[in-house]
Amino acid sequence: MPALGILIDIVLEDIKEDLKRKLGKEVPSISVKLVDYLPPHILAYVRANDYTIYVNSQQYMRARELGFEYDYLYVLLLHEILHILGIADEREVRRIDLELIEEKFGEESFAYRFALELLDPRDLYLKGSQRLGGKPNTFM
Ligand SMILES: [Zn+2]
Repeated sequence: MPALGILIDIVLEDIKEDLKRKLGKEVPSISVKLVDYLPPHILAYVRANDYTIYVNSQQYMRARELGFEYDYLYVLLLHEILHILGIADEREVRRIDLELIEEKFGEESFAYRFALELLDPRDLYLKGSQRLGGKPNTFM
């Protein structure tokens, strides 16, 4: 497996290319810092008006040991980059993240299962109902 810093750069570049191609968005220059002070349920975060993504190193090392570090970083960094691009709504970010992940990695991937875990339960329900009955993706 590639060294940590190199892998992070590879993932960042891939996300930048994918966002430009799929959403027409230019991603600013971003840096990633692994930190060990976050509680287990916080996987990563960004501060307002800051282009640094802080990643929970313990949780990341678990994914690395399982061999899913690329997928893990991609899902996580994409999420934070969508925030940096100005999408503040948590539910919206998780929905876009899952859509892009499904397209790129497919439904059998670790990335997809991970993004699905992060999805808002309401969207999970809608996704399921859409698949079963072909109903429109909205509800009142
Ligand atoms: Zn978020």
